[in-house]
Amino acid sequence: MAAYANLTEAERERLEMLIEEAGEIITIATKVLRHGYDNHHPDDPATITNRHHLEREVLDLQTVYARMIGEGDVSRDSLMVDLNAEWKRKLFWTRHQEGSPQ
Ligand SMILES: [Mg+2]
Repeated sequence: MAAYANLTEAERERLEMLIEEAGEIITIATKVLRHGYDNHHPDDPATITNRHHLEREVLDLQTVYARMIGEGDVSRDSLMVDLNAEWKRKLFWTRHQEGSPQ
């Protein structure tokens, strides 16, 4: 697959890392949905909250993505977007956010 895609091993590994972090975000976001932001795993003596885990996983993803930008895997243009404009575009498909159309 890598040969057809013309990826270096380093590029492939960064994509694997990105996918892994995205999966970890899905996992912890699911825990937030089920148990709440301020809950924690009952066996965790440090009582690290789901909120903190989510923040950590998003940071992990941002770290990998920043490296991908630095290595030229993806364009730097994504750093120049107007996040408020992007959010307004996404609002069209929401129902419960401030500014939702419905
Ligand atoms: Mg992680």
